[in-house]
Amino acid sequence: VSERADRLAGLLPEAGVDVMLVTDLVNVRYLTGYTGSNGLALVSDQVRTFGTDFRYVEQAAAEVDASFDRRSVPSATDLLELIEDSLPAGELRLGFEADNLTVRRYELLRETLDERVELVACAGLVEMLRAVKDAQEIASITAATVLADASFERLLRDGLAGRTERELAVALEQDMRERGADRVSFESIVAAGPHGALPHAQPREVEVRAGDLVVIDWGAQLDGYCSDCTRTVAAGEPGEEVREIYELVLEAQVTGVNAVRAGRGAQDVDAAARDVIADRGYGEQFGHGLGHGVGLEIHEAPTLRRRSSDELMTGNVVTIEPGIYLPGRFGVRIEDLVVVTDDGCKILTSVPKRLIVVD
Ligand code: ZN
Ligand code: ZN
Repeated sequence: VSERADRLAGLLPEAGVDVMLVTDLVNVRYLTGYTGSNGLALVSDQVRTFGTDFRYVEQAAAEVDASFDRRSVPSATDLLELIEDSLPAGELRLGFEADNLTVRRYELLRETLDERVELVACAGLVEMLRAVKDAQEIASITAATVLADASFERLLRDGLAGRTERELAVALEQDMRERGADRVSFESIVAAGPHGALPHAQPREVEVRAGDLVVIDWGAQLDGYCSDCTRTVAAGEPGEEVREIYELVLEAQVTGVNAVRAGRGAQDVDAAARDVIADRGYGEQFGHGLGHGVGLEIHEAPTLRRRSSDELMTGNVVTIEPGIYLPGRFGVRIEDLVVVTDDGCKILTSVPKRLIVVD
């Protein structure tokens, strides 16, 4: 963990700041190891300060990397009040996370700092570091994926037809918890028949009927790291059109996976998969991006979509998840989690991608 703060410090000259204030708790966790709900970090070449309040002093002692100086405030005080005393003397530019600090806290920060300190809005610095995973992070994401895959296979063994979408979602989530997940990565999607045509469908108290196509999108969080996978399964023998659409989405998905490689533009990978679907006339029915980075958060950098300026790098962990949604009828989405490598990618998801028919 300690070398992550060094990498952040290395980005600061280009960002035009001397010291970076990190208030986003996921970013604080990434830099320091701290998992509590109130904390901040100050990072520069010289400064490594972690701050929390009195409730988390013991937790911080156990979790925060030894390279950080640990400080705390009494309950009634905002953590921002310990910053002034933690900064080096003289004029300096203090970066803050514009996506995280509220206007109210920004004003408080300004009041507590001496005039020698200039505040500089920054965005995405730690997120940029987080996009490239180290071996330990990839191991955690792989373990979360293995766990979630096992829960899915367990779910299918009990059949789909006759159970409500909500029952299925709860059973899947319960199984992930029993296998040791911290929590689910996100609210699971179980969407049968026409409901599957909504990419962000919420599970309903509606039974899956024999012959329904069911979109299931789920993930486990383990050691803080998320997994993400979608499979579309048939609750009984599907019709010919369903099979055709399924095969088309699968072809697009495999094309997308094969297009992944370090150095390639994220929008080019999106285009490779999207063209397969658009060439057969279903471009309008694939309304979302091809994928997203996954890590401590379920959606993080890089983003694979049209007009993304991101470039894939070795160590990115991204989803490849094309879909076709036919309103009022059914939807198909197939999603794998992959690690970007120098010459391609490694697929973490182990659940088969051919159409599974569950009786
Ligand atoms: Zn997903
Ligand atoms: Zn996803």
